[in-house]
Amino acid sequence: MVVASLYEQLAALDKSHVWHPFTQMRDYNNADPLIIERGEGVKLYDVLGRAYYDGFSSVWLNVHGHNVPELNQAITDQLGRVAHSTLLGMANIPAIELAEKLVRIAPAGLTKVFYSDSGATGVEIALKMAYQYWHNRGVYAKKSFITMNQAYHGDTIGAVSVGAIPLYHDVFRPLLFPSHVVPYPYSYRHEGGAVGAKEETLSAIQTILETRSDEIAALIVEPIVQGASGIIVMPPGTLRDIASLCRKYGVLFIADEVATGFGRTGAMFACDLEGVSPDFMVVGKGLTGGYLPVAATLATDEVYNAFYADYEEQKSFFHGHSFTGNPLGCAVALASLKLLEDRKIVEGVRVKADFVAAKLAALADRSHVGEVRQQGLMIGIELVREKASRRSYDWADRIGVRASLRARELGMLTRPLGNVVVFIPPLASTVGELEEMTNILARAICEATEGS
Ligand SMILES: *Cc1c(COP(=O)(O)O)cnc(C)c1O
Repeated sequence: MVVASLYEQLAALDKSHVWHPFTQMRDYNNADPLIIERGEGVKLYDVLGRAYYDGFSSVWLNVHGHNVPELNQAITDQLGRVAHSTLLGMANIPAIELAEKLVRIAPAGLTKVFYSDSGATGVEIALKMAYQYWHNRGVYAKKSFITMNQAYHGDTIGAVSVGAIPLYHDVFRPLLFPSHVVPYPYSYRHEGGAVGAKEETLSAIQTILETRSDEIAALIVEPIVQGASGIIVMPPGTLRDIASLCRKYGVLFIADEVATGFGRTGAMFACDLEGVSPDFMVVGKGLTGGYLPVAATLATDEVYNAFYADYEEQKSFFHGHSFTGNPLGCAVALASLKLLEDRKIVEGVRVKADFVAAKLAALADRSHVGEVRQQGLMIGIELVREKASRRSYDWADRIGVRASLRARELGMLTRPLGNVVVFIPPLASTVGELEEMTNILARAICEATEGS
């Protein structure tokens, strides 16, 4: 904890020099910034000593809480050996062990691990590999991708090219390669409900594949839960049917599990919920328990073998990053996966998800709550101006922002997605902690929307 004058100093320097992501700096600079000093368990503490539940897992990353002795120890142990050495043409111990571990827990058929350092780079790698897979096999026409409306796959140009959130992506459209965008099944806002939404998505994919599969390299999807669009859960069976359509028409299937991986949805991976084995799986966020920036793109033998050739053929995957396979990051990822197993975290998520669902059930009746969506410990609450007609709040109402700020005042951090209030607690949260967090959440939403 620091004295108030030091806070003032830090705040002034922050405003002078730090440009924050996804943040309108004019708004930011007009308020007192929240400056975090430390974390302990599922709480973060600011420099003035105030405690907050981490109700969005520091943007969907955190698994075991903060300042976890086992994770700290794994980093310290590795630090005593080496902090970083490259994976370009050589190896290191944690990167090898982590790859073996990932392959063991991943859906069947994913046998190769290509490391990077963020979800976006992991997605770039999947896109480039899918394209070059066909190229290396002499199939040059397959060079475009199918994505879903409102998809989010990260912020680099390739990942934005398969992104479809107008607010984030439209300004960059002239810089991007074009993708085929199909409707995402958004049951709440579809006339035909879940059945109609699922049907529309599958038939749109089928139509494109029937007519243009010879020019499509791959389809990319956020499996089961589309996150950044507002935590939108697919109707059951949709993911499985999309995967089989890809199989049928010879198009590679990329599962972006950056948000959903490592127990978040109540299964180790969202693909497991429907027995889907993708050609590529991208993981990030929770891979290191939310500790360090490591991501990975898993691929099949089939894909790998298309790059496996004589040196002269120049079929290598010419891609890599300075910190690819960073030993500190891989070491903490291994320790996080060990805790995930030892503490039966994934099984725990299912129990805790039921508890949270029961706690939030009453919220669905409130006059400005349109829908409470949940899969495992990913929860999105869509607020509406008018419940019966499902009329949305206007952008200028900042309703999600207001509800989230109220939650902060009440002692829990979260960050909205437009009119959707997000609740994505660390998986290790106890039932008692979830009880307190959901109380804050419900109260913040009621006060922000009903003024009481
Ligand atoms: C967060 C996210 C990404 C991007 O990950 P970064 O580490 O922020 O680059 C990609 N895909 C999905 C589904 C995500 O939720």
